[in-house]
Amino acid sequence: MCYDVIIIGAGPGGLTAGIYARSKMMNTLILEAGRVGGQMTALYPEKGIHNYPGYESVQARKLSDKLYAQAESMGCEVRENEKVNEINDGDEELIVVSTKNTYHAKSVVIAIGMGNFHPKKMGCPGENELENKGVTYIMPVKEELVGKNVVMFGGGNSAIEMALIADSVTDTTIVHRKGEFRADESNVESLKKSNIKTIMNANVISFNGTDHIKSITVDQAGNKFDIHADLAVINIGIDANLDDIKKWNLELTPDGLVKVDNSMSTNRHGIFACGDVVDYPGKYKQIITACGEAATAVIMAYKFVKKPYWA
Ligand SMILES: Cc1cc2nc3c(=O)[nH]c(=O)nc-3n(C[C@H](O)[C@H](O)[C@H](O)COP(=O)(O)OP(=O)(O)OC[C@H]3O[C@@H](n4cnc5c(N)ncnc54)[C@H](O)[C@@H]3O)c2cc1C
Repeated sequence: MCYDVIIIGAGPGGLTAGIYARSKMMNTLILEAGRVGGQMTALYPEKGIHNYPGYESVQARKLSDKLYAQAESMGCEVRENEKVNEINDGDEELIVVSTKNTYHAKSVVIAIGMGNFHPKKMGCPGENELENKGVTYIMPVKEELVGKNVVMFGGGNSAIEMALIADSVTDTTIVHRKGEFRADESNVESLKKSNIKTIMNANVISFNGTDHIKSITVDQAGNKFDIHADLAVINIGIDANLDDIKKWNLELTPDGLVKVDNSMSTNRHGIFACGDVVDYPGKYKQIITACGEAATAVIMAYKFVKKPYWA
């Protein structure tokens, strides 16, 4: 069996690529190293997404479910827990080697996002010891927050959006190491109107507690004090591990991302890429851009495989 296209990664980019490939009736396989949904399900399932057109607001895991359902209903074959390790050149096709199988494909779309990513750690005493004992990197469901003192760390959109969710049901504080937030103006405006307490220019000294977090010691311009906390949610970015693409003979940018032209073509024949894994001038890492690039990548894969008269 030789697939028309193998899509690597089932985040929003990969799932959208699958939807477009099936609308062109391409035999499509999506291989996903972990669970479907990418960063949406792995990092911020409870967060609302307010900038995906067509939804005023949609919870990340619900948007992921919708994309997955659409891809499956259109006939995409999706295999989870199957990481791709190699993409080799065959005689007339590409050979994709995963942790479980070897596949043949006429084209490949790489949509591995941030690769094997993990939330960034703060690196201070007590953090590792209290992980999952009140220190978390993924916001729990809203119902679990009720009546708790929630302390959120971070200064970007997601930290603020998660703090706003928490604020609707409980006492919430946001701690940021800088004097200003690095977030959309609309989020900063909503924060100002909320009951969320902000502690700016503050560094965390330690997370304190034995069986469970009790407090957090912070240093604000030399003034050290403790904040009572039942839950600390750390949202200071992600550590990406993109070692896989280094082995795939792709031309990379100085930042280690896949270099593509405006047709989402890589330097390798029949291999296209989209989403957070690619870079070009003006690139903006968002769900909508990953989806838009996926549409382009797939139409190019279609032209490459089917060679229609109009292409
Ligand atoms: C906390 C946070 C909040 C965000 N909020 C928003 C928001 O509100 N709106 C917005 O538009 N964007 C938001 N983003 C950005 C958005 O999540 C990303 O731009 C988007 O997920 C990129 O999609 P992707 O498909 O390129 O990659 P990902 O979502 O990273 O998916 C890639 C998938 O590929 C898989 N993979 C990796 N390596 C392999 C391999 N070798 N083999 C097989 N599979 C592999 C991964 O497991 C993953 O599932 C947010 C990001 C973060 C971190």
